[in-house]
Amino acid sequence: MKIFREPGKLQKWASAQKLAGRQIALVPTMGYLHEGHLSLIEAAKRKGADEIVVSVFVNPVQFGPNEDYDKYPRDEKADLAKCRKAGATAVFFPTPANMYLDRHSVYIVEEDLSRGLCGARRPGHFRGVCTVVAKLFNLAHPDFAVFGQKDYQQAQVIKRMVRDLNFDLKIVTAPIVREPSGLARSSRNTYLSAEERERALALSGALKTLAVGRNAATERKRVVKMLEDAGLKVDYVEFVDGGTLEPVKRTAKGVCVLLAVYDGKTRLIDNRVL
Ligand code: AMP
Repeated sequence: MKIFREPGKLQKWASAQKLAGRQIALVPTMGYLHEGHLSLIEAAKRKGADEIVVSVFVNPVQFGPNEDYDKYPRDEKADLAKCRKAGATAVFFPTPANMYLDRHSVYIVEEDLSRGLCGARRPGHFRGVCTVVAKLFNLAHPDFAVFGQKDYQQAQVIKRMVRDLNFDLKIVTAPIVREPSGLARSSRNTYLSAEERERALALSGALKTLAVGRNAATERKRVVKMLEDAGLKVDYVEFVDGGTLEPVKRTAKGVCVLLAVYDGKTRLIDNRVL
């Protein structure tokens, strides 16, 4: 397994792979890898990629000033071992300084799908995500990139960016991987105390109670109450069209229900497509 730290070195290697006709898959992550991330590597393998590049980068540009950039968990050694075991062929570990050179001044802003949900609560978040993902595409030359449905809005925003800016690659999405308890796997779960972990089960618990053919406003109130009764602070609960992310009036097939809560100080998200 190759390990790259310099963007230029990854780019040179990836160009050579392309020239040799090898298919490249990219799996972008912020590290502290768990089974959710590993399922993306699996998906890349199943799709037959010759080279699977996992990027591990806690991207400062997508964090707000009062968010958890500094305390975000990092474990390079464990991540390397997990990538190797899962079958990645290359890992990219850049530093903020070599990803964002002095006076970096070009950013990508998606202006439709990123307005609501996490985009509204985390100003600048998707600008940071789109910018770093576009840079990773230019460095790794992937034929396809794999994203998790865990970050549903993110996957939609990235698909739109690829369409609208004519990136020559496909976006593949993979289902949410959960703990046996139902809790969606997340690097941020490491922040949770035993009590907070217990409370967090209300997220997947509430999503399980949803069904098609119901009034969205009534369902929304019911879900908010379930989360609050569990001791969570609701950031948002929204029922949207899975493609446009516009609010819907009724639950139906293809409707996506997205939740964001604070569990103590930790912000958790989850979602379900009906
Ligand atoms: P992160 O490291 O949290 O930025 O996530 C990197 C990628 O892994 C994103 O495409 C996420 O959607 C995906 N991912 C994170 N957690 C999960 C999960 N529990 N199931 C599936 N994909 C996930």
